[in-house]
Amino acid sequence: MADPRFLADEMVGRLARWLRMLGADTTYARGWSDEQIARVARDEGRVVVTRDRGLAARSERAVLLTSPRLDEQMREMWVAVPELSHDLRFDRCTLCNGRLAPATVPSGDQSGVPWDRIRAGLPAYRCAECGHLFWEGTHTAQVRRRMSGWTEGSDA
Ligand SMILES: [Zn+2]
Repeated sequence: MADPRFLADEMVGRLARWLRMLGADTTYARGWSDEQIARVARDEGRVVVTRDRGLAARSERAVLLTSPRLDEQMREMWVAVPELSHDLRFDRCTLCNGRLAPATVPSGDQSGVPWDRIRAGLPAYRCAECGHLFWEGTHTAQVRRRMSGWTEGSDA
């Protein structure tokens, strides 16, 4: 899997957002039937991510998660899919899975966006689909800190 793509089922929505933060193209199958999930995954070449043994069994490729905990689920993902990034990548919108592109100019009514800092060089990204803005800040620092705690000692 050069560039792993995922289809996360309804039970792992939080994990789906984290996979997007790692830059992985991740569809979130909210309210889909098992048949639909298996079919779309096959048609689009996606790996099904699920805690449902039956769904994993009927899918061509699947990661069957055993833990309900996000940190352990991430570790399970990294073991099952070694190509998966271990660091934040601004490629995918965590809300809708749209592609992100660098954003340099203000637009619309996005209050709370630190445009003065962005103009001064703070990296920012806009979702091509929903228009949401992401930037390097307190939140991304927290995400990186949490994630490095999860990966500590897992690599030589
Ligand atoms: Zn979006």
